Amino acid sequence: MAPTPKECDFLVIGIGSGGLAAARRASGQYGMKTIAVENSRLGGTCVNVGCVPKKVTWNAAAIQETIHEAKAYGFSIQETAPFDWTTFKHKRDAYVKRLNGIYEKNLKNDKVEYLNGTASFVSKDVVKIVGQDGQEQQVRAKKILVAVGGRPSKIGVEGEELGINSDGFFDLEKQPKKVAVVGAGYIAVEMAGMFHHLGTETHLFIRHDKFLRTFDPMIQDKIMDEYKRQGLHIHTNSSQSKLEDLGNGMKKLHYKDDQGESTMDVDCVLWAIGRTPEIEKLKIENAGIEVDDKNHIKVDKYQNTNVDGIYALGDVCNAGMELTPVAIAAGRRLGDRLFGGKKDAHLDYTNVPSVVFSHPTVGSIGLTEPEAREKFGDTVKIYTSSFTAMYYAMMEPEDKGPTAYKLICEGPNERVVGLHILGQGSDEILQGFGVAIKMGATKADFDSCVAIHPTSAEELVTMK
Ligand code: FAD
Ligand code: NDP
Repeated sequence: MAPTPKECDFLVIGIGSGGLAAARRASGQYGMKTIAVENSRLGGTCVNVGCVPKKVTWNAAAIQETIHEAKAYGFSIQETAPFDWTTFKHKRDAYVKRLNGIYEKNLKNDKVEYLNGTASFVSKDVVKIVGQDGQEQQVRAKKILVAVGGRPSKIGVEGEELGINSDGFFDLEKQPKKVAVVGAGYIAVEMAGMFHHLGTETHLFIRHDKFLRTFDPMIQDKIMDEYKRQGLHIHTNSSQSKLEDLGNGMKKLHYKDDQGESTMDVDCVLWAIGRTPEIEKLKIENAGIEVDDKNHIKVDKYQNTNVDGIYALGDVCNAGMELTPVAIAAGRRLGDRLFGGKKDAHLDYTNVPSVVFSHPTVGSIGLTEPEAREKFGDTVKIYTSSFTAMYYAMMEPEDKGPTAYKLICEGPNERVVGLHILGQGSDEILQGFGVAIKMGATKADFDSCVAIHPTSAEELVTMK
């Protein structure tokens, strides 16, 4: 006989970025009886195998870059300062574990009941939860949020399982000597950059002639040239047919690129070709929830699914923006709407800033130039600036990195509809400009702000 279900106002499935935010808002702020279910580590992708361990590793790579550049400023630092990957990895794991503990405490403080187990729908208001010990319980909820995120997509190449994905990157106990990274998006570009700067021979395999193809063409061109200048090996117009185990941790990658068919022996292959919603275990068919052709749960702007009382947000839904702050913001607004009386609360998905932690970082808000021209035609005006930041003044020409900015304006008032920046510090520069653009800033508003000198960002308020 099925166990008698527990009852609650709000059941949240998945305690990652979005689920956590929504559960805490519902319970901590509005006093709703909230149960949250998680089948892995608290915090989801971002905390365990995403933003957090990635940024810490990016910091290590950035320190290695600075060590290299310090010579130009008169320091006699050994050029190849040894990097202890294993010690670093264990310290990073310990940091993540501390964060898991903090998340558990936060749930407790906000009186969210936390169940550890895998959730699946029994009907549109009853969910079964099976714990790691096989124990089963059921919850009947007035409202249910699906926030189960995604997982790395499979490529379908023979021997694929001999390679790793982004989750596996964080499990690597030893630094690979030579790596093949396959993919052309955020993860491939970030991880290839980190491997390279930490001293691994890095080959990046992309299907077309550029990577980050959803970004503005200026960003695509500049970051591609810069990665080549730094010595990463980029294999354009490539495809992979097989990965073979050679023993002793070595693998043979069979591939084709602009140079024709070839093989490469490496000690690590990392597939990073996108992510897939994690919905199979959920049995959403028992609740009648609809998905799109890529298995993303279909939602409207209020995160409503097609089933009354069931909502979805974050990477699992079809909003098209797989970013932690997007999932968090959508979760908080959903809590405000469902339980806080804010009838129209929802996330505005336009002008969301995002950064790629490449070397150097890349930042983007709003429309790319082709998108703006398509939407606004001849009323588009472009301002660009490309220069060498003062940081590189002390360096030899071959060590100088690029800085490039593009401002995209529209209409007689020159409303800013896109901003794309590449160069040192772009990750930190972009946030403030995000506020201005969200407020509807025009080119004249940018120009009315007095520059901060000497910085790179001052170029953004003095563009001609
Ligand atoms: P998740 O955070 O993925 O949480 C979903 C949770 O649901 C997981 O904990 C999962 O275990 C659980 N779950 C799944 N199925 C079930 C089930 N049936 N029952 C119970 N629990 C279940 N974003 C940024 O903004 N900045 C970055 O720098 C950044 N870097 C990234 C780097 C990498 C390598 C990756 C992979 C992602 C990165 N992201 C970054 C994206 C970001 O991590 C995600 O957009 C974000 O975590 C999505 O949050 P979510 O709440 O939708 O899902
Ligand atoms: P992305 O969607 O960013 O990029 C994946 C890319 O891989 C595709 O755009 C495609 O590019 C390429 N690709 C797809 N299939 C293949 C194939 N068969 N062979 C070779 N290349 C292929 O996915 P990621 O996995 O990089 O990241 C997932 C999401 O996580 C991101 O979209 C982002 O939202 C989020 N994220 C955010 C970060 C941040 O904010 N800094 C960091 C990391 C992840 P093409 O068509 O050009 O071949």
